[in-house]
Amino acid sequence: MLTESMEDYLEMIYRLTATKGYVRVVDLAEALNVQPSSVTRMIQKLGEEGFVCYEKYRNIALTERGAAVGRFLVWRDQTLHDFLTLLEARVGVKDQVEGIEHYITPPTMCLIRNLVLYFTANPSRLKELEALRQEERYPDGEQLEELRAWFFRHSDGK
Ligand code: CA
Repeated sequence: MLTESMEDYLEMIYRLTATKGYVRVVDLAEALNVQPSSVTRMIQKLGEEGFVCYEKYRNIALTERGAAVGRFLVWRDQTLHDFLTLLEARVGVKDQVEGIEHYITPPTMCLIRNLVLYFTANPSRLKELEALRQEERYPDGEQLEELRAWFFRHSDGK
């Protein structure tokens, strides 16, 4: 089974492969903001599990299986991002996606994808949804700042 960290690595390897055409340990270390030694360790693990091919001083390449998983992970990230943006979550979307993505099942992801498609194809329905928004129902006060997720409110909002 893939850990959250393995998923994050595979997602990033897939992204970098798509944009740059190749991935080196240093690229991953920079993109994920981790030490190159951590990348090397994780790449060995992903190699043993059959997701990547890697030889020392060479580029990191996804296996067919790794590419299939990577493609799904990027799609999942993008779909959740689209979904929260569509709902005008506005703040902390990126952080929330990074959390949610590891806990949602592929079938539920498909349901969310359907919602995104539905509201994109029916903007008037989206307007109805917007009319229901009552932000003042969730006050800043009380004990809400104790919640871990409340931190996202103060993050960069992207
Ligand atoms: Ca992600």
